[in-house]
Amino acid sequence: MAITVQPNENAAGAVVTDVDLAALDDGTWAEVYGAFLTHGVLVFPGQHLDEEAQGAFARRFGNVEKLYPGQDRATLHFGNVKADGKLTRPGDESFKLLRGNEGWHTDSTYMPLAAKASMLMALVVPAEGGGTEFADMRAAYDALDRAMQEKLEGLSAYHSLYHSQARAGFAHNTDHMYGFHDKGAPLRPVIKTHPETGRKSLYTGRHAYRIEGMDPDASLALLDGLMDDACQPPRTYLHAWTVGDLAVWDNRCMMHRAQPYDTSQPRVLRASRVAGEPESELAPTFADPKADAFRPTSSNESALTAGKSPKEPDVYA
Ligand code: MN
Repeated sequence: MAITVQPNENAAGAVVTDVDLAALDDGTWAEVYGAFLTHGVLVFPGQHLDEEAQGAFARRFGNVEKLYPGQDRATLHFGNVKADGKLTRPGDESFKLLRGNEGWHTDSTYMPLAAKASMLMALVVPAEGGGTEFADMRAAYDALDRAMQEKLEGLSAYHSLYHSQARAGFAHNTDHMYGFHDKGAPLRPVIKTHPETGRKSLYTGRHAYRIEGMDPDASLALLDGLMDDACQPPRTYLHAWTVGDLAVWDNRCMMHRAQPYDTSQPRVLRASRVAGEPESELAPTFADPKADAFRPTSSNESALTAGKSPKEPDVYA
């Protein structure tokens, strides 16, 4: 039976039903992947996948991006509940990242190899808020006037998690969590051409902090203005989570952000991140003034922590 893909009304993305992601044959997978490329974000209500099934679904999209040394699974717990069962509190490193993630971004643009896709499944949700909001950057690009499209063509911006977190009010040391590295700030095109669909999109977000060849303040003003205009209806979609829902989005053309919620209530999602293809998502890096050192590499793997015992943090940017 064919899957049902219902585009969201006056909004980004689509809801997919009549599919069991735990028992996906190749023909159905092709339909799902086609819908993913068309709509940018897909929500599958009531899937309740276990770790193994979610991991297998994530691997359909590509290689797993490993977010901590020694990660051997395709899934991670993501949320405000720590390993000891206590809630993350202001001042915790993970709390800073949870707050930072409330700004529009696309995943891992601050790493040499940016992400292709990301997936979340809801395990525990707060009574109110805590949704995930998406914005379609293809539609945002299409909505720019011709002069702005031409102005942006050929421009590139530096991306850094230190910078985005600093703007959110948080300082971090080098290499104690994923993203706070000495690999340098990747320089990425402001307008990205999707490697599969060929569509152009605005590819900036909160991690982009300076446009090459432009004054830093003018860069930020331009980048902020672009995102303010881009992330507006009907290009957005806010998903209010119900336990068991799974969402997957294309980081190559969509922005997302977390919706605030009462952090005295638990919110736990199961995440998977799929690595980009080096041909289209690998960027050269340059010294990041906010990092302790600069050791350029095209690898996302942590050199400094690889020898330490693996520990899975509660939250990632
Ligand atoms: Mn994210």
